[in-house]
Amino acid sequence: TGGRRCRRLEGETARAVLANVDTLLFDCDGVLWRGEAALSGAPAALGRLAAAGKRLCYVTNNSSRTRVAYTEKLRRLGFPPAEPRHVFGSAFCAARYLRQALPPGAAAYVLGGPALSAELEAAGIPHLGPGPAALPGPAPADWAQAPLEPAVRAVLVGFDEHFSYAKLCQALRYLLRGPDCLLVGTNRDNRLPLEGGSAIPGTGCLVKAVETAAEREALIVGKPSRYIFDCVASEFDIDPARTIMVGDRLDTDILMGNTCGLTTLLTLTGVSTLEEVRGHQESDCPARQGLVPDYYVDSIADLLPALED
Ligand code: PLP
Ligand code: CA
Repeated sequence: TGGRRCRRLEGETARAVLANVDTLLFDCDGVLWRGEAALSGAPAALGRLAAAGKRLCYVTNNSSRTRVAYTEKLRRLGFPPAEPRHVFGSAFCAARYLRQALPPGAAAYVLGGPALSAELEAAGIPHLGPGPAALPGPAPADWAQAPLEPAVRAVLVGFDEHFSYAKLCQALRYLLRGPDCLLVGTNRDNRLPLEGGSAIPGTGCLVKAVETAAEREALIVGKPSRYIFDCVASEFDIDPARTIMVGDRLDTDILMGNTCGLTTLLTLTGVSTLEEVRGHQESDCPARQGLVPDYYVDSIADLLPALED
């Protein structure tokens, strides 16, 4: 069939592919590190890529860290130095989207953490979170009397450890003002895997809750949306034909890379498996071909031999 091939990236192929690339976009968790530990060989592989003159950018759906915090984490874990402008987190990209989409002076009601607020601050977007203390009564029906801020023209949903029914009420009330109030989500990751097979609910669960209440679909800025790639392409001179997207998730990283015309490389150090790739390849559903990467490696450390002189 005309389905996508997915080959192990090694030997002469790896040398040739890397020689024809000038930019690599890296997903972070599951590719460079897991939690607070760098994956073995990953800092060395990126060090070699940087020494070979490649441009390295970081594209992550995690909205709970700022661009600056990512540069500090990269340094702490021994990766080559990165500047904040090389980091495209979904918090930064959501703030950038709202700066473009909102009229001057319009504010956002935010379900999220301090990093999301910090990126909105940096982008000059007025924003407010919930004020649980200001709730005008003990019963949910009373909360519909809480004051609304007239300047709010968007609800933004990111990773929010303190998500609550009260916040959901307030988000709905802003969205009920009409289509002039935008609904934006940072990403749809439904689960965040932890070591040992455990997992916690991801931002996708929170976005779904707000979408369900509001009976409308959120605009998503993170992977697999092409908006996050457009952010990279607007800050750097990117030739998609000379760019690789490296990721561990087929439904976010690889789908985004394929959609945007990039070469795609799956690492098997994170969420997705080769069995899932085979399932997509063998499927008759054309959309599933978009989930098949061009190449895979067990780990990005496997690129090291191809990067020796
Ligand atoms: N969202 C949150 C809150 C996370 O903690 C993570 C990973 O740690 C992600 C999303 C997925 O991030 P990435 O796109 O870097 O894999
Ligand atoms: Ca990942």
